[in-house]
Order: sequence, then structure tokens, then C-alpha cells
Amino acid sequence: MFVAQTATGQLVTLRNHAQARQLTGAFVCPACGAPVGVRNGPVMPAHFYHRGPACAASEPESAEHLNGKLWLLDYGVRRGWAGTLEQVYPTIKQRADVVWWPAGRPLVVEFQCSPISVTRLATRTAGYHRLGLPVVWVLGRRYFAALPQAKQAKFLQHSRAHGWHLWFLDVAVGRLVLWQLDTLGLAIHWYWASGSRALHRPFPDAPRRQAQAVQRALMHRDRRAMLLQQACAAAGRNLAGCPWIVHTQLTHLPGVAVPEWQLRTRWLLAFQAHPTLTTAAESAFWRQFEGQLTPLVDSAAVLAVVQARWLAVLAAAGLLSRTTTGWRWRQAPQWYPTLDAKLEAGAEGVVRQL
Ligand SMILES: [Zn+2]
Repeated sequence: MFVAQTATGQLVTLRNHAQARQLTGAFVCPACGAPVGVRNGPVMPAHFYHRGPACAASEPESAEHLNGKLWLLDYGVRRGWAGTLEQVYPTIKQRADVVWWPAGRPLVVEFQCSPISVTRLATRTAGYHRLGLPVVWVLGRRYFAALPQAKQAKFLQHSRAHGWHLWFLDVAVGRLVLWQLDTLGLAIHWYWASGSRALHRPFPDAPRRQAQAVQRALMHRDRRAMLLQQACAAAGRNLAGCPWIVHTQLTHLPGVAVPEWQLRTRWLLAFQAHPTLTTAAESAFWRQFEGQLTPLVDSAAVLAVVQARWLAVLAAAGLLSRTTTGWRWRQAPQWYPTLDAKLEAGAEGVVRQL
């Protein structure tokens, strides 16, 4: 941390190595009052550290975390926003990494580089909300990936301005990255200290690759795939030969406990044997997958996106149509006895219809 308190209660913010060399006297943590020392080595920025165990308000501090906080503070200053480093909120026993004041209102920015449980993420977010403070979670290197992944799921955020989104900070390069997940792919925005750029990256629709991955999961006896295979077998089906449509136009939205293609396969097992399905039964199917994976957004809202896409894909392929009470099959999706038979038939039929 960069901010500590003197014996007389004054706050001292460490800015650089030269200042750290000249500091004298004893310092305590502003959050817990425990004694802290100064670390002024060659690798990390000069910073304070708890001489004993770190308190609950203090995250483990890597060079990435320390440098990221300074970068974020500086970024706000360049945008003309007042900023505070390590603001302590005693009533909730939390310390915000950075607080920006865009348009004169506080915005808490938490730079998360280390692992954090869903429970702790939820508690800390709720703490800020109790004080009426909006909070944005910005993810460090550990959470980087080319596409949305399960490890990012708990940080999924939603706002009117950005829709479904995730924030990252690449300290090494010095840029903030915003991912907006829309129906076609990722809108990616990069923000440097000196400018910004945006591009749209469509999600790769790779049904063949995913069909082969299903087979591999079965060969490796992946627990979830094996359970699903049992359910398929009970219906006289083979999971490796599941219909092509389950791999088509996925939302890629993280935050659902079960992979999207597995949800779709389960859905087919639940409803394919009957000529019609009611809205109530269809809704009940999705409710069983609601969970606590996304503390920053409503998990039912995440599932609703996955559900709406799936129904739209089935309807666009001419398989399902709306009735006054729910849905009716126009044509059942084709299952295959084996992966080979599925590959031979090809995904083209499904894709052409869409
Ligand atoms: Zn402390």
C-alpha cells in the first residue's frame, strides 16, 4: 500500500523511492492501526507493508497491483478527474484501490490481480453499495484470455452504457481494456493514457472443433460430460452425436455454471420427445441452473440471455415455432449415432438454414 498514518494521525502517501528514503518515524495502517514498515527495493514501487499479518482491508500486493493502482490514479488525473489512492471507509472496514471523481461523483475502482472468492467479491461490492458508492472491478493479468472464460465469470458486470462487460488493466503495456459482449462477438475498447481504439471481434463459430471436443471430454471421462452421456443414453442417444445446432451461435456469456452447449443438449433431452412445450416448463428448465456465480449481476438475467439466444437459433433454423401457450416442434434436430456419422453429415445443413 502507498498510504500510511503517522503517530499524529496524518496520512502520508508514498510517491517515489527518493521520498521513501527520507521518511522517518513510525507508521500504522490507516484501516486497522497495525504497525507498517517501508519497502524501498529496486523491483517494486516504494510501498508500505504490514509488519505482522495483513488486515482484511489489505490485498496481497504484487508489483502488478502496486503499479496498476498508480496507473489508474494517473489515468484519472489525465482525464481531469480528481482521484484518491487507497481511500479507507472505516464503517465497512474496506479500502478502495482508487476512487475517481468523474463529474464530481465518486467511482470506486478495484484492481483485482489475486484470486478472490465469489463470497468475498460479493461482500466487498455490497459494502460499497451500502455507502451508495458504485464500484468497477478491473482485472489483472491472471484473468486475461482471448475469449470469455469461466475464470472471468464472477466479474461479469452490466450497465446501461456498456451492456454485459468486463474490464482489464494491462499494466505492462499501460492500457485499460473493455470487453463488451454483444450478440455477435466482442466489442473491444483499448484506452491508453494518450488515446483509445476499438474493434469488433466476432466469436469464432467452430462447430466441428466443439463436436470433436465433446468426444475428447468423453474419452477423458470428464465428470460433467459423463453425467450428460448417462442422460443421453437413457433417452437412447449418444452425446458424441448430439445435434449440430447445440454448437451454433453460442452467446459465450460467462457466468453460467454449465457450458452452454451442455445446457442446450440437456434442453433437447428434456423437450425433444414431446411435440409441444409450455412456456412454464421451458422457463422451469432454466431456473434449475440459477446459481451464485455472478455476484455483480443477476444470474437469472445471464441465463435469460442464453435462453433467448437458444430459442432464437432453433426458430431461425426452422425447427421450433411459437404457439399461444409455448412452443411446438416443426422439425426435430438430427442426432447421430457417432461422432463420425455427425462429421460426415456436416454442420452445413444447420448453418445454411440460419
Ligand atoms: Zn491494516
